[in-house]
Amino acid sequence: MFLKGKTALVTGSTSGIGLAYAKALAAEGAAVMINGFGDPAAIETERAAIAATSGAEALYSPADMTKPDQIAAMVAECAEKLGGPDILISNAGIQHVAPVEDFPLDKWDAILAINLSAAFHAIRAAVPGMKARGWGRIINTASAHSIVASPFKSAYVTAKHGLLGLTKTVALELAQHNVTANCISPGYVWTPLVERQIPDTMAARGMTRDQVMNDVLLVAQPTRQFVTPEQVAATALFLCRDEAAQITGANFSIDGGWTAA
Ligand code: NAD
Repeated sequence: MFLKGKTALVTGSTSGIGLAYAKALAAEGAAVMINGFGDPAAIETERAAIAATSGAEALYSPADMTKPDQIAAMVAECAEKLGGPDILISNAGIQHVAPVEDFPLDKWDAILAINLSAAFHAIRAAVPGMKARGWGRIINTASAHSIVASPFKSAYVTAKHGLLGLTKTVALELAQHNVTANCISPGYVWTPLVERQIPDTMAARGMTRDQVMNDVLLVAQPTRQFVTPEQVAATALFLCRDEAAQITGANFSIDGGWTAA
């Protein structure tokens, strides 16, 4: 349990990849604050399971990642009640698929706020404590779309490219503080986020569900397999190890070869 005594805050961790990060960090003994939306009873079940796994405290914050004041308050609550955060994983994210000329303005604003600006606000609030303690791990869930684009995803691709730029900048600013900042960039991971975009992609491209699965999603990944949330979480755990202390400003592709092409 190499994270015993450390505290991790994972945004967007009531589902999918974020929940896998929270479970993996807890399995190594970290006290974890989870965040995100969902059914309160289901969230409480996950929170209790995470606490039982880690043997440390686990808390839930309902902070909305579109609201900078709620993000700052979440980081402050983590510091006050759990300590830290020593590990900050910005992971909350949403998607919307539409041609650029029809892209709804509210979706553009929400995607930029949740997928990009929220990471800035969380980092801004967490960095002073990391600097003071002389240790920190900042991990941002980016995407293969931080490196390459796909049509009909203008907001998402813009946000994820921006997130990589933010990560590199923060890595340089914190390079002499024993705080690393890296991106993890998955290809298609089978989670509710991917499942939900299938109907819109069917509409945008005039395709059947099977065509979207095979000709839009898995066609991007030379392995022809979805990434698993657990594979993404394992990479985050590695980045928290002392052996990863010199890895900073990097972007880890976990995409079945997508961006090698
Ligand atoms: P998901 O839909 O399963 O989980 C998203 C999480 O974000 C949930 O916990 C949700 O409640 C939370 N969230 C959404 N809006 C929020 C808000 N306003 N405030 C607080 N929390 C909010 O999705 P996922 O696939 O696990 O995605 C997690 C991250 O991984 C996202 O940043 C996504 O862009 C990225 N990603 C996913 C894939 C994939 O194929 N699934 C690929 C690359 C990158």
